[in-house]
Amino acid sequence: MLQLDSHPTGRHFLQIPGPSPVPDRILRAMSLPTIDHRGPEFGALGRQVLTGIREIFKTQHPVVIYPASGTGAWEAALSNTLSPGDHVLMFETGHFASLWNKMATRLGIATEFLAYAGTDPHLPQAAGWRRGVQADMIEARLRKDTDRKIKAVCVVHNETSTGVTSDIAAVRRAIDAAGHPALLMVDSISGLASADFRHDEWGVDVTVSGSQKGLMLPPGISFNAISPRALEASKSARLPRSFWAWDEIVEMNKDGYWPYTPNTNLLYGLAESLDMLLGEGLDNVFARHQRWAAGVRAAVNAWGLPIQCADPAVYSPVLTGVITPEGVDADAVRRLIHQRFDLSLGTGLGKLKGRMFRMGHLGDSNDLTLVAMVAGVEMGLKLAGVKLAGSGVHAAMDHFAAHAAPTALRQAA
Ligand code: PLP
Repeated sequence: MLQLDSHPTGRHFLQIPGPSPVPDRILRAMSLPTIDHRGPEFGALGRQVLTGIREIFKTQHPVVIYPASGTGAWEAALSNTLSPGDHVLMFETGHFASLWNKMATRLGIATEFLAYAGTDPHLPQAAGWRRGVQADMIEARLRKDTDRKIKAVCVVHNETSTGVTSDIAAVRRAIDAAGHPALLMVDSISGLASADFRHDEWGVDVTVSGSQKGLMLPPGISFNAISPRALEASKSARLPRSFWAWDEIVEMNKDGYWPYTPNTNLLYGLAESLDMLLGEGLDNVFARHQRWAAGVRAAVNAWGLPIQCADPAVYSPVLTGVITPEGVDADAVRRLIHQRFDLSLGTGLGKLKGRMFRMGHLGDSNDLTLVAMVAGVEMGLKLAGVKLAGSGVHAAMDHFAAHAAPTALRQAA
């Protein structure tokens, strides 16, 4: 039974790091009638989105679109390129890297999970979950692999559980410096279309992504961008696959169609999203997220709370993780903020449960929605009895006022 009092007034503040708030333009585009997925109109739509999405990944090569969440596209990347028992090197940056590692193990792949070896005063149990991929460790491990048993290196570009964006070009350089033939597979599920990403230039073999983050769509489609080397590897890879198999999809995609029923209305949304992002220009999109992130970090610094990412060189432009003081349950603070201010924040995942929360700055946002998010968090922290060093709201306002947006929002009258 619908409870009317469960619908607060105004828009909900969906400030989790994905699914991100969906622009009205995209919602309207998705509301169009569903069409025949074998008809000519669909073929034109298919060709349009399959071409446009390559610009977002910065690739000349095929991008496969699945009617699945990001987890499905993880499985597609592994099952298309690897054989049972293959050795794969992965790097523990957080919860999502850990889940991908677990999936690979379940698929019968022999994974080696490298992790940052240092310590951390705030989170001794999760020191590596405050830093990015350590490319030098990958290089050192690959150099020791003289009989070339390692078939792939898998890393997460933007670790959504922590707010750390790893340097993928450095991972490519590490593989090349070791002279190793391993494939490079990257999860950019929450990085793509918010943080700089260059599939071809960085020599990535498979990039995995999803619809519900920087592309500003609802959840439900995901991607594999595929290099010629990865496509070649798929011809001899022996892990079982059928729904995920690239060959039939890539073949039918040449005319804009799929071997099964694609997610028509989400593809309308994707066409709209591509129009918005490419119209704005990817460099402007990235600068916009960097600026938002800096404003939100200014707020966290003003509160005097530690940011989950301990290395300023790899702060995420997509989200900011905030560590709560010892003894303050971050999830209790989140619940309070949700109940009192209709604002959703990301929970601490895995090893970080209860120790931190995540503030998303992606999707259909602007300076004022972010200031509102900061205000909701500040009020919630105070209500939870957390002593704050200063006003994050003022710090965020000062930041946004002092740093003009890279593109003019409105023409002067
Ligand atoms: N990888 C990363 C970095 C993510 O952020 C997520 C989801 O948030 C996933 C993988 C899993 O994707 P999904 O939940 O769409 O299956």
